Amino acid sequence: MGKPIFQPLPDKPDHPRLEEEVLARWNAEETFAKLRAKNAGGPTFSFIDGPVTANKPLGIHTTWGRTLKDVFQRYKALRGFDQRYQNGFDCQGLWIEVGVERELGLNSKHEIEEYGLEKFAAKCREAVVKYSEQLWEGSKRLGQWMDWGRDYFTFSDTNIEYVWRMLKTVHERDWLYKGHRSTEWCPRCGTSISQHELIGSYVDRADPSLFVRFPLLVRPGEFLVIWTTTPWTLPANVAAAVNPDAEYGRRANGEWVAAARYPDEQLADKRTGAELVGWTYRGPFDDLTPGSEVEHRVIPWDDVSMDDGTGIVHIAPGCGGEDFELAGVNGLPVIQPVDEAGRFYDSFGWLHGMSTTEAAEQIIGNLEEKGILVEAGLHEHRYPECWRCHTPLIFRIADDWFISVRDLRQQMLDANQTVEWTPAYMRKRMDDWLNNMDDWNISRRRYYGLPLPFYPCSCGHLNVIGSRADLEERALSGLDQLEELRRPWIDRVPIRCEECGEPVERIKEVGDVWLDAGIVPFSTLGWQNETAVPEGFGVGAAKGLTTADLPDHAYWEKWFPADWVSEMREQIRLWFYSQLFMSVVLTGQAPFKRVLGYEKMLDETGREMHGSWGNTIEANDAFNRMGADVMRWQFAAQAPDRDLWFGFGPAEEVKRKLLPFWNSVKFFVDYANIAGFEPQWESLEPAATEPLDRWLAERTHAFVADATAGYESWLAVDVMRDFEAYLDDLSNWYIRRSRRRFWDGDEVALHALWYAVVQTLRVLAPVLPFITDELWRTLVLDGPESVHLAGWPEVAEPDRAFLEEIAEVRRVVELGRQARSTSGIKLRQPLRRLVVEGARIDGHLEEIADELRVKTVEHGEVEAVELHVKPNLPVLGPKLGKELGSVRAALAAGEFEELDGGRFRVLGHELEPDEVLVERGGKEGWAVASGDGVTVALDLTLDGELLLEGEVYDLIHRVNTLRKEQGFEISDRIVLSGVDERLERHEDWIKGEVLAVEVRYGGELKIEKA
Ligand SMILES: [Zn+2]
Ligand SMILES: [Zn+2]
Repeated sequence: MGKPIFQPLPDKPDHPRLEEEVLARWNAEETFAKLRAKNAGGPTFSFIDGPVTANKPLGIHTTWGRTLKDVFQRYKALRGFDQRYQNGFDCQGLWIEVGVERELGLNSKHEIEEYGLEKFAAKCREAVVKYSEQLWEGSKRLGQWMDWGRDYFTFSDTNIEYVWRMLKTVHERDWLYKGHRSTEWCPRCGTSISQHELIGSYVDRADPSLFVRFPLLVRPGEFLVIWTTTPWTLPANVAAAVNPDAEYGRRANGEWVAAARYPDEQLADKRTGAELVGWTYRGPFDDLTPGSEVEHRVIPWDDVSMDDGTGIVHIAPGCGGEDFELAGVNGLPVIQPVDEAGRFYDSFGWLHGMSTTEAAEQIIGNLEEKGILVEAGLHEHRYPECWRCHTPLIFRIADDWFISVRDLRQQMLDANQTVEWTPAYMRKRMDDWLNNMDDWNISRRRYYGLPLPFYPCSCGHLNVIGSRADLEERALSGLDQLEELRRPWIDRVPIRCEECGEPVERIKEVGDVWLDAGIVPFSTLGWQNETAVPEGFGVGAAKGLTTADLPDHAYWEKWFPADWVSEMREQIRLWFYSQLFMSVVLTGQAPFKRVLGYEKMLDETGREMHGSWGNTIEANDAFNRMGADVMRWQFAAQAPDRDLWFGFGPAEEVKRKLLPFWNSVKFFVDYANIAGFEPQWESLEPAATEPLDRWLAERTHAFVADATAGYESWLAVDVMRDFEAYLDDLSNWYIRRSRRRFWDGDEVALHALWYAVVQTLRVLAPVLPFITDELWRTLVLDGPESVHLAGWPEVAEPDRAFLEEIAEVRRVVELGRQARSTSGIKLRQPLRRLVVEGARIDGHLEEIADELRVKTVEHGEVEAVELHVKPNLPVLGPKLGKELGSVRAALAAGEFEELDGGRFRVLGHELEPDEVLVERGGKEGWAVASGDGVTVALDLTLDGELLLEGEVYDLIHRVNTLRKEQGFEISDRIVLSGVDERLERHEDWIKGEVLAVEVRYGGELKIEKA
């Protein structure tokens, strides 16, 4: 034999090695470029990539999202859609800053400023360069096809200018304002935190729990008692709130409390809260200057809770959102105790310079010395921390910049109704968010971020710059040193007030990073840009990092809105929201037509992944140990409405599922090589001579149709489910049933199998781009050089009735196997007959007989079927508890219903197959199985003839095992020795099955090459 027609395949795929080879081939052959050229000018599919923050190497969570993006882009490409393939990086904001601070060992804003803002900016850019390169590498290894090198970077001056333009629009519509508010504040980062950044940032924490006496000035010897978990707020106390409708009273020791909180005590002098209002008291820190200047008094508040504490609430308007609002209503003074870094101001004497946590112990000790501490303990509760540096948040009063959502909320809700969400419930999540969101706090007191273009003048006018040209026109100085539209350079460019003509400086704040990401559907597509600028995105900090163009407005018209975007669910409140917000401001419509969201990734046991728990998986480790295709299968097969349990265990499961497909292709390759079968690309047509071949073609067409529907509804999970069912039919029915034809070198069968696997590769290519391309190049000798250039299979409508007929045959065979397995008779032993009730299997009796190794199959009534179901106690006991007894009795009495898949319903419980022990009995000498309304009965009677045939099957099995063990080729002829003489009458049969040219009787069983 000369060179084989098809490259022989190893026994199983070595995924990582195979993938590296395929990557090298894609590179060498420029496969992606060819694909783009092929689809250029075709119908458009507009996908807009959400930026990944360039602050770490590719994370395993990110590979999930990137896979989904790639799967659907590849699918659309196979269908001929022209696409943009632009990847994006988020490059500014706290994520980047915190990483660089850690690297440099800087611990506060003060230290950053000492280090120098120019140097700090350079370090931040360096980090982005480094990590964007790592993200490129990781994404390529994953198999993601994007226009690498023409990415958008959000720190590009172009992107910044687009945000400026949006902010100017917001100002012109009178939605921009500066708010004086109490806000969640990260003392380490020294900035306020916005509402959408708080979601999911609550952690369990133990804080001090203090009960403190406030001595009443009007009633010597009597006290108000309050409860607090934040000792640091006590020096800022100005009032105590009571519920005006609740009942209060005095304890024997003179402490005033709410009656509802002390139900077991006799309280004296009972009064409503309203009667306490106005009482004055001595504050807990009146020995310090700020407290001494306040008249502390009791105020009414309807929201005082009777669920915890004493029913009297300590109010510090400088340290809490509700407290701040109460101060406005009640005309209370506002004491702000801590500075931006969360440290006490010097007016607080001995507390000066302490952090809020450092101060807690000191404050408790001080209260004790003064004799006003009633009780100190610990309190477990949920408490928000900074989502970037994990410092517990505090409240501060700050002047922040806001965009009012008053006029926008309804427009955004309306726009959301035009979006098709998958899974559908995510639309509701977005609606909930839109209904509840506050005005958008867009300012951050940081350094490496979008410079907010606000120049408030002492004349009262707010100047807002909308573009670089605008800035240049109004600048008074500093343009020559303006390297980037960024701090510190931008801060050295004062402008002239457009109202009074005086010089005016920019505020120091930078913008929320979600402004940077939300503007992407405008900035990257050239909205309202008159002339395209080649490489116009590679400016400012992005210079030299990307060759992406700034397109013109016609381009935006072509690609906006996005046909599809996809990110994880938390992006509803982040990127999906900020995009929607800015798009509604600028165009009044949603920036995307369809969204695919997905839930969280957990480890394979269902726990969150944490570096400190040692259960995170590095993307590179996954590439090297499981391979990208295996990862992608896990991601694609995951229902997007459930959390993904990802890991090496599930990876093994995927490999186990994939192997029959590899084996099917290898089976084809081996036999086609023996037969010298050489199919032509042009003959990729279904074969239709034999019924089984016709069935395989129809089954393949049904798979193509079902998978198409899955892709079209953005549910790769459906595609993979259909594939698993298809693969079972292919390997456990078609190939099993056709083995002899392949041994005989039947070209019709070889063609039928070739057609099926080649079409299957095209369907799977988006999910498993590596292995499908490898197998494609093995199987397709003269067609398109890559499966990714082969387009989507065009196939006829499948004959569903015909497929259902064979599905019924397979059900009968499956039940026959079940019956055999309960009989205790081994599978190789032929039996006399099978009786089938309830299935239409005419025309397939012989196939069933052959599969089940019975002599005849007949229709008939199966008599006296008894079904006994007992509880599997070790499993069911813990599940049912007390109810086990009644369930057991109901099962024994036959009061149950049989469901699909071996499940049973009894007394309202659905029992899984592993929770019950099932016995089916027929007449003596029969084995019975039933399901889905079909019942089969196997005649178990054995006679001498059947037993002898059983021995022949045993022999064939042993010889074939020997052939494998001794490394014989499947086409090698042998001489077989050591056969029992009683089997001589079956000699021809044996020879045919084991490719023996001679059989010798007696002695030890052995084989030799003929
Ligand atoms: Zn922080
Ligand atoms: Zn002015």
